[in-house]
Amino acid sequence: MTIEICTIGGFSHVGGNSVAVKIGEEVVILDMGLNMEKYVSYSEDREDVGSKTYEELLKVEAVPDYKALKEWKDKVIAIVPSHAHLDHIGAMPFSLKLFPKAQVVCTPYTAEVLRTITADEQIQVTNKITAVPLNGTFQLSKNITAEFVSVTHSIPHTAIVVLHTPAGKVMYANDYKFDMHPTLGKKPNLERLAEIGKEGVDVLIVECLYAHEHRKMPSEGVAKQMLRDVMFGVQSKGKSIIVTTFSSHIARLKSIVENGHKLNRKVVLVGRSIAKYVLAAQRVGIVEFGKEVEFVRQRDRVEKLFAKIQKEGKEKYVIVCTGHQGEPKAILSRMVRGDFDYQFNEGDMVIFSCSVIPVEVNKRNREKLDSELRAKNVRLFTDVHVSGHAAREDHRDLLELVRPKHIIPAHAGPDKAIMMQELATQLGFKNVHIMSDGKRLKIE
Ligand SMILES: [Zn+2]
Repeated sequence: MTIEICTIGGFSHVGGNSVAVKIGEEVVILDMGLNMEKYVSYSEDREDVGSKTYEELLKVEAVPDYKALKEWKDKVIAIVPSHAHLDHIGAMPFSLKLFPKAQVVCTPYTAEVLRTITADEQIQVTNKITAVPLNGTFQLSKNITAEFVSVTHSIPHTAIVVLHTPAGKVMYANDYKFDMHPTLGKKPNLERLAEIGKEGVDVLIVECLYAHEHRKMPSEGVAKQMLRDVMFGVQSKGKSIIVTTFSSHIARLKSIVENGHKLNRKVVLVGRSIAKYVLAAQRVGIVEFGKEVEFVRQRDRVEKLFAKIQKEGKEKYVIVCTGHQGEPKAILSRMVRGDFDYQFNEGDMVIFSCSVIPVEVNKRNREKLDSELRAKNVRLFTDVHVSGHAAREDHRDLLELVRPKHIIPAHAGPDKAIMMQELATQLGFKNVHIMSDGKRLKIE
């Protein structure tokens, strides 16, 4: 029995992560993600909000192209996503029907978000979905067991997935960082990674997005401190505090909510996607904001909320809303445009607890939004943020801990993959395979 790899998406450029692993006559697909840039521009151009199909999304390259699987397609027994970011699970509502016999196995938050987005797209999925706790294992077949080793990232329940098979072990670290001071959830399970390393890892598929950055990615605790600095260290009496961040970044949202309460302000979470991710986190017991914060989703309720805030006094509230990338349809852009009756005053604070994801559409949208905000004389706080991705010195620790026989860089194109190759070569690793989408590799 041998291990064979077929890259599907996320190896030629960033986005649409997916890779297939073949062991004997069985295939497991790791991740099934959207290309967010292409998906968003496609969705924005559409007038109707009815269900989209895999075929039309494939035409605009928003979903992974599974044609590369060829004769492997009917051998797929399981689909195992590593975490709930849309570039890892977002294609599942559309692509799962290609693999009707495959079961989906993932951590509880990932399963919960998957159920939510599938319902949102109004798509009926027949594949069985099984949630496995962090640091748990699940037998996919007689020959293959999946293990979900806990790691930190920017969304709860992120795992390094390990496939234990008679042909060897395949480790999938896409995405992760080694944050020893997480503000929510478990620490990375380095002990278990070391044990698996000792048992012998044959293939490591590893993200390389920041392999070129010579540093250890700072802890989420640093982002929490940055937020404290801004929210407590700045004169905000009588002023609005408006914060925007990634809707799925539950740890960050928790810090914002806690700070808001310490400032004796009521916290309101405004926008559909924030409610979606936070409510999913509440359902699986990750956080409990229920009674402390108010969720506001529908347009008419947003109008009412803003009227109430301006009547009672802006200094009594922290508004947490969608729109950190300047998305024209998100709450913040609409507030600035005047779609809602919300008056910005000089000295109001707008905090971007995020970085700009470097694609053209985001850069353009954020430049526009930032300049409109500046024109209103508000105080702008940008980049109050720490990334959830490993940098070079995290990768060094992972490689040393696991000592894989073969390394396949993922989650970026060759420009970043060569930086991982450079690091691995320095550390004495011989078999680094820089692959593009739709390629196969047999591990001898
Ligand atoms: Zn991610």
